[in-house]
Amino acid sequence: MARRAGGASRRGSRRRRAPRRTARPAGPDRGRLLEAARRFLAAIGETGLRRDMRKTPARVADAWNGEIVSGYRSDPGRILSRTIKAQDHDLVVVRDIPFTSVCVHHLLPFHGTAHVAYLPGDRLVGLSKITRAVDALSRRLQLQERLTRQVVEALAASLRPIGAACRVEAEHLCMSIRGARKTGTRVVTSAYAGRFRTSPALRSEFLRLTGARVR
Ligand code: ZN
Repeated sequence: MARRAGGASRRGSRRRRAPRRTARPAGPDRGRLLEAARRFLAAIGETGLRRDMRKTPARVADAWNGEIVSGYRSDPGRILSRTIKAQDHDLVVVRDIPFTSVCVHHLLPFHGTAHVAYLPGDRLVGLSKITRAVDALSRRLQLQERLTRQVVEALAASLRPIGAACRVEAEHLCMSIRGARKTGTRVVTSAYAGRFRTSPALRSEFLRLTGARVR
């Protein structure tokens, strides 16, 4: 997609920008994260920060701002907007995409793999764009179910495919280090759109190709 060059607006009328279809959330604020990290440590009881912890608030702020929730600054719709004409309509599967996210309930990480598939309509997208879209959506505070659904919706909105599917397998730290304290438990979620919803054969093909045990 060509980006329109700025400039040459009609005299006396300011060019109004069309509202973006996918509004980008405000995103994290490093300064406020730094302050929050200091307060969090104080709340734990770490007030006079010892030598080895002096840089901890800044490290925490940088990690959250620059990496852990950096996905708020990325728009999956934009990432998936560069498409090419599809010559045929064969199933495309990108499996074992590693991701890390943070659960909305405890602010603890959950991590695992996402498997994404689509049955192209008129458009194809670069495979690396799919992994980047998963990254943009996972590097936020998330629910695994919502993440899975959002991946499918982003694909459906950008590519208008015949069908789209996503399966996510993850381990949640909030289940292994607190609460049930069950290490190794994996949560599996899936979401489907279009033909994947109506065709059990297509769904089992997807599950088989992404390594799920299917009867
Ligand atoms: Zn949780």
